[in-house]
Amino acid sequence: MSKAIISSLYSSDVFTMACRQFDQAADAISLPEAIRDRTKYPRRCLAVSLPVRRLDGSVTVFEGYRVQHNLSTGPSKGGIRFHQDVTIGEVAALAMWMSWKCSLVGLPYGGAKGGVIVDPKQLSEGELEHLSRRYMQEMVNFLGPHTDVPAPDVGTNEKIMGWMMDTYSTHVGHLSPAVVTGKPIALGGSQGRREATGAGVAYLIKKYLADMKIPVNKATAVIQGFGNVGSETALALEAYGAKIIAISDYTGGVYNAKGINIKKALAYIAYAKTLKDFDGAEPISNEKLLELKCTVLVPAALERVITEKNAKKLQCRLLAEAANGPTTNAADKIIEDRGDIELIPDVLCNSGGVIVSYFEWLQNLSSFYWSRDEVMQKLYVMLDRAKESVDAQKRKFKFSRRLAALTLGIGRVAEAKAARGLFP
Ligand code: GLU
Repeated sequence: MSKAIISSLYSSDVFTMACRQFDQAADAISLPEAIRDRTKYPRRCLAVSLPVRRLDGSVTVFEGYRVQHNLSTGPSKGGIRFHQDVTIGEVAALAMWMSWKCSLVGLPYGGAKGGVIVDPKQLSEGELEHLSRRYMQEMVNFLGPHTDVPAPDVGTNEKIMGWMMDTYSTHVGHLSPAVVTGKPIALGGSQGRREATGAGVAYLIKKYLADMKIPVNKATAVIQGFGNVGSETALALEAYGAKIIAISDYTGGVYNAKGINIKKALAYIAYAKTLKDFDGAEPISNEKLLELKCTVLVPAALERVITEKNAKKLQCRLLAEAANGPTTNAADKIIEDRGDIELIPDVLCNSGGVIVSYFEWLQNLSSFYWSRDEVMQKLYVMLDRAKESVDAQKRKFKFSRRLAALTLGIGRVAEAKAARGLFP
């Protein structure tokens, strides 16, 4: 039983979901009571108001957050999300998942996440810059290269990271590239960072398909979400020879049993902004798309899209969680009971992004830069190691793959916290 005295600050379906995952993992490894709640709940958070002058001269105040879940194993690390549905509970859940992810893959980081309640598509470029700089300005005393290091997430990109890095550097009085990762290459960004999450997802899919004895060039893939992660996953899978039969964005999806040309779809989006009316395929709703018969299903958008409603109807062999938290607790149970779907859990599946963020941070701190080949090679070595450790844990304790990944990630954080002791 939890003894924590916790307010309703984070209460939300998604925070409850992350807590349930934690409780299951903590029970599975019999995590001592004395360390449980310290490992489970976020360490601290900051909520800020962000006034932005609009093009018409008016001022809009946006609300932003940063939740630092764990700082016991290094600076906290995690992206900043710009989305109209952001809540502090969601940001807290995402920060928890960053902690387990960094720990699982062996990065010297705790977990954090940031968010602003805004639809960035509704802002002009100037307004977006103003908002991004204002967010960093408010956070200056709360983060830093050895405290907390943000990165891109849903709705943010390298340009925004560049503005944030510039704002922080101006404040401290010298260039400080290591305060943020996922920057433009010209500002100390790493080779390969932009494609790292998707490239890592596709690499793990290829590895798991090999374990399942399915040749990648015979595989079909359905990808929900066509932002940075979804599109880079699609490109990498296409390069491996897989056939991408459906993709989608927030306006809906498109399906073509013969395969979609991903470069054409990207060229279309560059011009039309969304996939709507893309003529290389037929329209399909996001809901129907998730239930298509395929070899690999890749949710690459937001949380909680695989639910108890559709989990029974999935027709994939492999579920690769490119998004954070795409599968609810109830859906997880259904998938486990079905026993016919292999799952690559989010904390393993999408870890390529933060792994290359770590490489970027190392390059910034040492002012010594690596080639793209070096980055990708080191990324694949780390992914192989993480995959092997998860699969060994799964076999050893007969856990589901999610439970295997979470017990490893959570166990290491708990061990570090216990070793550091409790300050009186
Ligand atoms: N936002 C990404 C994630 O959820 C990347 C985080 C990072 O690179 O720090 O893993």
